[in-house]
Amino acid sequence: MLGVAAMVGAVNGAVAMGEWVAGAPLSQTAPAAVQPAPEPEPEIQAPPPAFVFDAPLPGRVINSPFGLRQLPWEESGRLHQGVDIAAPAGASVKVAADGVVKATGVSATYGRYVLVVHKGGFSTMYAHLSRPAQGVKRGAYLRRGQTVAFVGNSGRSSGSHLHFEIRKGDKPLNPSFFMGRSFAEADDLPLRAAGRVSRKVHKATVSRWPPGVAKTGKGEVQLARLKNGRVRATLPVATVPAPAASTGSSSTDAAI
Ligand SMILES: [Zn+2]
Repeated sequence: MLGVAAMVGAVNGAVAMGEWVAGAPLSQTAPAAVQPAPEPEPEIQAPPPAFVFDAPLPGRVINSPFGLRQLPWEESGRLHQGVDIAAPAGASVKVAADGVVKATGVSATYGRYVLVVHKGGFSTMYAHLSRPAQGVKRGAYLRRGQTVAFVGNSGRSSGSHLHFEIRKGDKPLNPSFFMGRSFAEADDLPLRAAGRVSRKVHKATVSRWPPGVAKTGKGEVQLARLKNGRVRATLPVATVPAPAASTGSSSTDAAI
């Protein structure tokens, strides 16, 4: 008899299971609240990336890249050690990574600037500012994404933009390799690629000529046809004595 009862129970159990699977009304099954919760999937947690770099002006474009750049009055290209990001004066500049302010100040070329040091020997420079953000002074700790300063047009610059540099030690790196990117480990950092300087020289256009440099007024514009079919124009220029009152903070278009 015991064996039969057990078998009946087993059959009933099978029927109940079948109804439940077929989507029988809730009243015939256990209330949802007491159904055993599904086993949680084991979570796979990756450690946070070792290095995270934000763009200092998210969504804004680089209008002068890292690399060799030649101003019209220069014999050859010079290294533009950062990127220029166009933005209206007053736009808030975000610090690219957690760090500590190493210096703030004013220079003839950089204008108002803020220099921040980060782990791993990195530093970032924000230049041509209108002003640093409140509380941003030497020793201040900044969290990534915090406003560090406001865009301006100070120093050798004619047109508001941010000049942004990333260095490891003294070596300038191409910020394009870091902005908006994160790296799981130090070994993943693109140090070699970002430190490479292309031999391509970017011809800068300028809206104003600095004092101390003038068009000679003689000679012709020299045209050279380049291998890629483009034509390069070279203006004859001459250096003239700078006015005595010159502070050296002349305005050129995105001179640094
Ligand atoms: Zn620049």
